[in-house]
Amino acid sequence: MGDVIFAPVSDKSPPEVIKSLIKAEDYLGDVKKGDYAGIKLHVGELGNKSHIKPEIVKVIVAELKRRGAKPFLFDCNSLYRGKRWNAVDHHENAYKNGFTYEVVGAPFMVGDGIRGMDETDVEIKDLRYESAHLGKIIEDIDYLFVLTHFKFHELFGYGGAIKNIGMGMASRRGKLFLHSDIKPDILASKCTACGACAVTCPINAITVGEVANIDKDTCIGCGMCVVACKYGAIEFEWSNTRECVIKTLHYAKAVIGKIKRCVYLNVLTDITPHCDCYGYTKDFVVEDIGFLYSNDIVSIDAASADLVDKAEPLEGSRFKRKELAKTDKVKAIFDIDMNMDEFFETAQKIGLGSRSYNLVEKKF
Ligand code: SF4
Ligand code: SF4
Repeated sequence: MGDVIFAPVSDKSPPEVIKSLIKAEDYLGDVKKGDYAGIKLHVGELGNKSHIKPEIVKVIVAELKRRGAKPFLFDCNSLYRGKRWNAVDHHENAYKNGFTYEVVGAPFMVGDGIRGMDETDVEIKDLRYESAHLGKIIEDIDYLFVLTHFKFHELFGYGGAIKNIGMGMASRRGKLFLHSDIKPDILASKCTACGACAVTCPINAITVGEVANIDKDTCIGCGMCVVACKYGAIEFEWSNTRECVIKTLHYAKAVIGKIKRCVYLNVLTDITPHCDCYGYTKDFVVEDIGFLYSNDIVSIDAASADLVDKAEPLEGSRFKRKELAKTDKVKAIFDIDMNMDEFFETAQKIGLGSRSYNLVEKKF
């Protein structure tokens, strides 16, 4: 059973709370002098406001430096053609969202090169996939600090630390492999031909006539159209998304197996119904909850999911099934047959971490 330290939001600022949290708990005790310490984060698509804030990163960088490490921020390029699709635009996006050296005290790097092709194959021992195609940067990381904005995600239900490294550290080839099984379908009877999905699709795979149509040879399975359609006319077949999720769990296992010294901090504020890949932030599902800290990736995501599930839903949030908003928020938002228990059980089964956890609340 993994310990998860929970610091609720307080009248102190989030950076102050996190500074106290990481000083109080010695999960960073195994950081060594001279370690190249990578802080894995998502800087948020340009226009998104709910992403991790640079002021939070600043206190983590300072603490890693205090312990003699050489911290840096990093992410790998996205599969879709947004502002994080290549390293040049990705850097510009990071700076515009505030992740400059002057603010955070460390450089931002892209982990899989300018075109997302700089990769390395990391063995996944004893599991169903032989290796994971990951950004080459993993070869140089001695210590990994996984900093995650915890929110909902149209493929994973919840987007937490597992998704942050399992999908987020994959190279372009790796991401294509992870997404290769999933293509959404249009439900013609519900489609109003409004065109919102076609505008949202990052690679122009959708055309709209009497109803929308998806070119499945072009589609990369990113899921953005599913969120864009407010009529519930686009659906994933869960049996297909399930394969993507299971592959991502294995990729996360490859990351942890390679780096070994890892710690996780989940930020449960600005909890949106969609991930930070969207270039906007419209509504929040629950009030801000707080910050979770652990050295077990499954425990921290399971605890985060439970806290969000228990939280009072906010009026006006986009629940497709309002009657489930207090009991099963993933189903309430996406109206999909996704079973988060199965997700965490599988994560535990492949040796990623412990599904059961001991939540220790500390007020700062
Ligand atoms: S967003 Fe939904 S309703 Fe609008 S065109 Fe696309 S599938 Fe049809
Ligand atoms: S999942 Fe939807 S938005 Fe993403 S590439 Fe396919 S059609 Fe486009």
